[in-house]
Amino acid sequence: MKSQDGNGSLAPSPIRTAPFAPEPGEAQARFPSLGEDPDLDALGEPMHAWMASVFPLCRSITGAGLRKTLRSLQDLIPLKIHEVPSGTQVFDWTVPLEWDVREAWIRDPQGRKVVDFRDHNLHLVQYSVPVRAVMPLEELQLHLHSLPDRPGWIPYRTSYYKDDWGFCLPHLQRSALAAGDYEVCIDASLKEGSLSYGEFILPGGPDQILIWAHACHPSLANDNLSGVAVSAYLARYLAGLADRGVRLRHTYRFVYAPATIGAIAWLSRNRAEAARIRNGLVLSLLGDLGAFTYKRSRRGNAGIDRAAARSLRDAGADHAIEDFSPYGYDERQFCSPGFDLPVGCLMRTPHGRFPEYHTSGDDLEFVKPARLAESLRAALRVLSVLECDGVFENLNPHCEPQLGRRGLYQAVGNRPDPGAEAMAMLWVLNLCDGDHSLSEIADRSGLSFAAAVRAASTLMSHGLLRERGREEKGRS
Ligand code: ZN
Repeated sequence: MKSQDGNGSLAPSPIRTAPFAPEPGEAQARFPSLGEDPDLDALGEPMHAWMASVFPLCRSITGAGLRKTLRSLQDLIPLKIHEVPSGTQVFDWTVPLEWDVREAWIRDPQGRKVVDFRDHNLHLVQYSVPVRAVMPLEELQLHLHSLPDRPGWIPYRTSYYKDDWGFCLPHLQRSALAAGDYEVCIDASLKEGSLSYGEFILPGGPDQILIWAHACHPSLANDNLSGVAVSAYLARYLAGLADRGVRLRHTYRFVYAPATIGAIAWLSRNRAEAARIRNGLVLSLLGDLGAFTYKRSRRGNAGIDRAAARSLRDAGADHAIEDFSPYGYDERQFCSPGFDLPVGCLMRTPHGRFPEYHTSGDDLEFVKPARLAESLRAALRVLSVLECDGVFENLNPHCEPQLGRRGLYQAVGNRPDPGAEAMAMLWVLNLCDGDHSLSEIADRSGLSFAAAVRAASTLMSHGLLRERGREEKGRS
């Protein structure tokens, strides 16, 4: 949590010199400042602008729209694009044919185009097979989809693994269609090609953190361009810190792929790499006005689960923590029993629980720049716990060290909350017996994780604390 000085401005954190600046010294290098940077607020607008730039593309689980979206991400991060050929067997699934659309429309009995894919790519059921036909309205109705309870919106429908075709339209428009013969054209191709996914690896320590976002939805903003944008800016931010000498304890693997088949294909090609993933986050639905929801990994008490719960609680805002269930986003695949990876999902309002979900109501207006920036900050705060947690040892464990002699009482004396800062140091000194991690100290003392980190950082820089090596911890 940030404190405020008498002028109401943000008091600088002692572990942070300036945004994006290199942070010298062992303590500073050990505790990268994540999620507390005021400059993060300004990233909401560029994230939204990037979303707007790719919003019109017709993404799907394969095809040109997905590929163009990944190429656009290359303007933000050095993403490597991988292609998995159609027909490749990936566990129990097969990579499908590549789907691309040139045009798709319906003409009414008067010859007027009443539905046109060019107006909105949600008009066409994804993976529709090619069609050129004239048919009476009753027959056409079998291929139309609308939402009677939300009559102004176009629904999002797919037919990935079944040869079918269809159009989606507002129920108001469908209700007004007159009897007669309609001409239908779907000029689409389903041919041998490949499934594309993008991957960016930011090197750090040996343990990996997977950040995953599905990128296969057409013109839908919250689900899931918001997750893609937050992930890409998260990657940019962490890469910026690493460039400036901040030492990251984890290697970060950012992947952007089609949902389900993309995750299955990625896992199928990365079985050895998957074993190195120590924690992971699926990012989705991060731009709406709802409170944060974190869905736990299948394990339920993995590092990522504890870090998400801890950071959301410390942030003080309304949020929900939900247990794992084998439905939802790609955590389903990562948490399948053969992998059982510690991967949770950070979102705002969960899928299916807001009316705009999977409809044309999920547009760029529905996603707010300020919410995107908040989501980026929330994700960084989760990672901050993973980056900064550790087991430390009090180097002066026999009675309290004399803090005043080291200028630590003076140091805290002119801070806005000297009592809290001093208490944090006393808690950290007392519980840093080699058995408690910083997050456990925060749990036991009631300190925020950031306060425990600040205290540990100060004590480290005064030679009163050191981190125990992994081999010394006696814990896994
Ligand atoms: Zn979806």
